[in-house]
Amino acid sequence: MSREAYAPPTLQPSSSQFNTATTDIAGPSTPYKCGECNAEVHLKKGEPIRCGECGHRVLYKMRTKRMVQFEAR
Ligand SMILES: [Zn+2]
Repeated sequence: MSREAYAPPTLQPSSSQFNTATTDIAGPSTPYKCGECNAEVHLKKGEPIRCGECGHRVLYKMRTKRMVQFEAR
């Protein structure tokens, strides 16, 4: 009955409790929009920013209008 028993998963990125399950359903995902093909991309915390359709690395956050660019080398 205590709310403090539940900790948001964002505070514990390396929690082993979340690593045992499949990374498919677990964890909140953030909706992005691809800047190249306009596809909707859902990324979870810690996932690389990349479009699943065309592989483009410039995605727009759908909630804010700020551009998120990720350059991997
Ligand atoms: Zn794309």
